[in-house]
Amino acid sequence: MKKYEFWFVVGSQFLYGPEVLDTVAKRAEEMAAELSKALPYPLVYKVTAKTNAEITDVMKAADYDDNCAGVVTWCHTFSPSKMWINGLELLQKPYCHLATQYNMEIPNDEIDMDFMNLNQAAHGDREHGFIAARLRKPRKVIAGYWKDEKVRERLASWMRTAVGAAFSRELRVMRFGDNMREVAVTEGDKVEVQIKLGWQVNTWPVGKLAETMDAVTEKEIDELMDTYRSSYDFATDDIETVRYQAREEIAMKKMMDAEGCSAFSNTFQDLYGMKQLPGLASQHLMAQGYGYGGEGDWKVSAMLAIMKRMGKDGNGASAFMEDYTYNLVPGAEYSLGAHMLEVCPSVAAERPRIEVHPLGIGDREDPARLVFEGKEGDAIVVSLVDMGGRLRLICQDIHCVKPILPMPNLPVARVMWQAMPDLETGIECWITAGGAHHTVLSYDVTAEQMKDWASIMGIEFVHITKDTTVDSLEKELFLNDLVWKLR
Ligand code: MN
Repeated sequence: MKKYEFWFVVGSQFLYGPEVLDTVAKRAEEMAAELSKALPYPLVYKVTAKTNAEITDVMKAADYDDNCAGVVTWCHTFSPSKMWINGLELLQKPYCHLATQYNMEIPNDEIDMDFMNLNQAAHGDREHGFIAARLRKPRKVIAGYWKDEKVRERLASWMRTAVGAAFSRELRVMRFGDNMREVAVTEGDKVEVQIKLGWQVNTWPVGKLAETMDAVTEKEIDELMDTYRSSYDFATDDIETVRYQAREEIAMKKMMDAEGCSAFSNTFQDLYGMKQLPGLASQHLMAQGYGYGGEGDWKVSAMLAIMKRMGKDGNGASAFMEDYTYNLVPGAEYSLGAHMLEVCPSVAAERPRIEVHPLGIGDREDPARLVFEGKEGDAIVVSLVDMGGRLRLICQDIHCVKPILPMPNLPVARVMWQAMPDLETGIECWITAGGAHHTVLSYDVTAEQMKDWASIMGIEFVHITKDTTVDSLEKELFLNDLVWKLR
């Protein structure tokens, strides 16, 4: 993974004299160094900018520096914002305006007009905010004291989101086979996603995968079996079936790594030369950070890879998920999510078990898969759909619970959740927005991050929360249709 960093650009002007500018620069440097200790990526102080040329230069440099994942600006003093126009117009990296102040308190005795000249972020940040608003420049505004835990957490989340945007722009997706026949929501305009999101989505022959599988050695399989044993419980004696999944995993990983791909899709309708639908193989690849989508769903696969990078450790608790069935009992209304096989074990509440069971779909041998229950906690489900002419990202707040039934005869990983605002309204909102049955379910990427990511990428964002009503959502979608036609 790249060593990403963020640039701290501080606005000022010559009006205050060299002494004030010197203090501003020293404090900005101190703040960047202190913040860096609490943030997932370094915040590098670059310049106290006083002229159009300085601002334009630093923004151009940010655009061309591969390690720079975004720019954070702040105005300790007043910085006339016309000098920012050229630079902000050129800036293509994610942009955050940190509206903060060096001091927390207004000092009663010390405050005089010199103090006011030096400490006027409230003044300067408003001028700075205006020009971004005037330019319609997408940006994140975070306000608060720079030593405050909440401010630091929000800046950290935004950084992870910006890295998600950088990762998106370089993402390559390997498709094994086409989308499942006749399915609509897994389709999409691959040219449009490359223009908007940067994804390179291409296909490789399943026959080539079968050849690569044949070339996998027993020694390679032995090594991966050791990894399986250290990570999972074996609830099967059918070791040959598990070894076959290891063979599939090694081959898929080799092909993806050779092409620089971080995500893949396959379909049970095209398993040429393969004895099992990859189950455990796909699940363990997801656990390592690769994106995956079933039935050829390359959009959900790409979103999973991106959301894993946006997670707390660069590979967060996020999984490919599918809404399967409901519990509609009054007072115990839940969605049950699962898939034929392929849910990522990063969302497991317990140590997953490897089991082998028949699979009624795909006309192949019984596949090995990981079986587990999802953990409790607040989460989101996310779906990217192609509306024809634009992409829509739909995000719903959910609360995951321990499954209320043991379901001993359901041989797949499962997660049970309460949809917001309630099951029935939540379903109505999701269906009204056109959300897919495939989603990314995430415990550690927040809805705020997904909203910021959509803003950075320039796509529509729809959020279903505890406060959403069908009426309000319908109005929003109707207006969005008009707005996005104009853009
Ligand atoms: Mn599916």
